Amino acid sequence: MTKSEIRKDYFKDEYIIFAPSRSERPQTIENPAVVETTENCHFCPHSFHGETITYQDDGYGDDWEVISIVNKFAALTPDNDSAYGQAEVIVETRKHGMDINDFSVDHIVRVFNAYIDRFTNLKNMDGIKHVIVFKNEGGKAGASIAHTHSQVIALPILPPKVEAEAMAYNKYYLEHAICPYCDIIKLETDKPRVIWEDENLFVLAPYASNSPYGAWFIPKRHIRLISELTRSEKESFAIAMKIVLGKLDEIGVSYNYFVENAINREDYHMHIKLAPRPNVWAGLELGTGVIINSILPEHAAEIYRGETKAKTIRF
Ligand SMILES: [Zn+2]
Ligand SMILES: [Zn+2]
Repeated sequence: MTKSEIRKDYFKDEYIIFAPSRSERPQTIENPAVVETTENCHFCPHSFHGETITYQDDGYGDDWEVISIVNKFAALTPDNDSAYGQAEVIVETRKHGMDINDFSVDHIVRVFNAYIDRFTNLKNMDGIKHVIVFKNEGGKAGASIAHTHSQVIALPILPPKVEAEAMAYNKYYLEHAICPYCDIIKLETDKPRVIWEDENLFVLAPYASNSPYGAWFIPKRHIRLISELTRSEKESFAIAMKIVLGKLDEIGVSYNYFVENAINREDYHMHIKLAPRPNVWAGLELGTGVIINSILPEHAAEIYRGETKAKTIRF
């Protein structure tokens, strides 16, 4: 049995308890989700009726592959003073039943171009303090097939979690005279937590990952916003995401990923954080914020590099 270990984040006051033996506990199998077919899918082209379209990758013709629409069930809308904001859904393909890791590199670059267009437009809306681009990919372990999509939400508030990251970032910069993400690349190069890299991008399983199989995608160039990525850098993201998300698909793990940008700060280092779906949080996590992770990052990196097979698909 492997011993547990407490680790602290590189620069934030976050603690994670790694308990590898927990993944050997008896597990209960989740109930398979309802199968979603093309007939009842909201994101198949034939179901679009009067949607507000904000972006199409073919201009506004009939040959789009990536499209952005205003979320019909949005919690935040521009006409509501009590819950002001905007929420859009980026439908990543017109084909039902595909995953983003099945797309070509060029197609993933087109998805990134949609992220950039919507991010840039929403951050320029009046009264917007933060814009988050994210994807929830669920139901891998069950039988559900969801039409693959991402979301972009513009918020009228700066979320405390984002502010806490900004404060920790600034403090690290003052103390070390280097951005923490540039420093993480330096510190982790040649370490066992490296998942993949090329001249543009560094992908690692972070030392104190707060979710099993967590991964960070950090551009090697110190850039503040996703809109500053070059074509070649977007291709590097696409290649790495095909490998990493393809592995999660293979082992049956659902995930979220989110693009971290800073819209109201002079300096930041944009990146994408991947958070495979963690165990349902229990009393310790809810009461203290201290998270238990049953998969060591070194082990996760070996699995992503294809050197080890995943021992369990449920956690
Ligand atoms: Zn569909
Ligand atoms: Zn940096």
